[in-house]
Amino acid sequence: MVICFQCPVKDDSSEEDTKKVYSPLTLEKLARQRLLREEALAISALNDLPHLLFPVMFEEAFINGHTKVLTAMIPVWPYPYLSVGIMIENRNLETLKAMLEGLDILIAQKVRSSRCKLRGINWKNKYHDISGIWAGSRELLPRFMTQKQPVQNSPGCGVKKELKVTTQLEIMEGRLDESDRYLFQWAQQRKDSIHLCNRNLEIQGLTKATVIEIFKILHTDCVQDLLLSDLCLEDLDFLNPYLRQMNNLLNLKLSHITDTRSMDDSEMSLLPTFHCLQTLSVNDSPYLYSNLKGFLRCLKKPLESLIITNCNLSQADLDCLPYCLNIVELKSLKLASINLCNLLLESLVFFLEKVGHTLENLELNSCGIQDSQLKTLLPALSQCSQLRVVSFNDNEFSLLFLKELLHHTAQLNQLEIEIYPAPLECYDRGIVLSDRLENLCPELLEILIAKRMPNEVTFETIQCSKCGGFYIYDLETERCHFQI
Ligand SMILES: [Zn+2]
Ligand SMILES: [Zn+2]
Repeated sequence: MVICFQCPVKDDSSEEDTKKVYSPLTLEKLARQRLLREEALAISALNDLPHLLFPVMFEEAFINGHTKVLTAMIPVWPYPYLSVGIMIENRNLETLKAMLEGLDILIAQKVRSSRCKLRGINWKNKYHDISGIWAGSRELLPRFMTQKQPVQNSPGCGVKKELKVTTQLEIMEGRLDESDRYLFQWAQQRKDSIHLCNRNLEIQGLTKATVIEIFKILHTDCVQDLLLSDLCLEDLDFLNPYLRQMNNLLNLKLSHITDTRSMDDSEMSLLPTFHCLQTLSVNDSPYLYSNLKGFLRCLKKPLESLIITNCNLSQADLDCLPYCLNIVELKSLKLASINLCNLLLESLVFFLEKVGHTLENLELNSCGIQDSQLKTLLPALSQCSQLRVVSFNDNEFSLLFLKELLHHTAQLNQLEIEIYPAPLECYDRGIVLSDRLENLCPELLEILIAKRMPNEVTFETIQCSKCGGFYIYDLETERCHFQI
């Protein structure tokens, strides 16, 4: 429990809402809106509309619900792709129906308009977080837009059909929302000409009948990102035959998986073997406790990224890490909100020594690591020469040991981002002393600067338990800020 001196007074008269910035509409936008008000005119003008205006016009029609215009634009869409960004307003059953009607016209045409280049529509994809309408393919997105899922990690699903509709399916409490259900049925009736591609599948809570129904239609080979949450081990057993068919699964996320078996139940339920999994993430899942070894067995190819958050780990779990052959080429290890303070970290040391040549990202946040444990870790840390990101936020290091840590990270020449906890000396009986943080940080930074040019370095206090705010000192401003 930590409290800051900065807890803001709650103020409900949120000024920002009333302070809307007035921006005059451009002439072009006015013309577009005018055109859309007269739908018949807009539709007849499509043949002469310059290519470049298609995405903005489509966006305008989409946001304002001009469904007839949407339908008419699809059969003459002059780009290979049409992606509806996750942030765009008015993504609902009506706009979906309008787009699908346009696709129906396209499918029915014996001779296509020479203008039409459309091969795929992306209706929904969480990882595709652009704001409006995007006329490029996902593969052509600028790199910053695809960072969550780099291009080289996205092999096609291999299903070749004339037209492809990509979406993300969420089965919440056993149900699909009405748009997903509609899209599913629509694609099922046109399965000879349309491939409905689900790259992302989320199953949150299980209703067996729905899952059976969905997997009759879903191409399991298309699934690259899978989230399973709010399930128990029996549910996983039920899903296993389906998971086994997901031959292209790259990212698996498990959250809130509970262990409902009694102690004398025989075998621990195992996930099937995944052949190309790159990222495995487990959050708040009691069943992981003392089962990590069996759990990691499901990997066939060396994993790139392992993320475990809000879980309890046993000594046996930590001890198995250096002996799991499928994680020895790890590029990223993130452990957060896992209490390590009562565990011996020697096996983590062996593990870091093993992955030192590949590890680029090491985050051990809110792990309750103490001075003596840090001391154990340090020599191995120096061997992780490829590290680009380190984060040790919210651990209990005294000034002396934090300096020791910095002497080690100072030797890591590839580091780009470094996040350290404020030393214990910056707290007094549960109260954050921001002045002290500001006074101590320059000499801490000196340790790094003496060895190399640091890029991005911050020292952060624990979050205040009342307001969630924290103090952060950064290299860029060389000042202490309060953040909330
Ligand atoms: Zn506070
Ligand atoms: Zn597919």
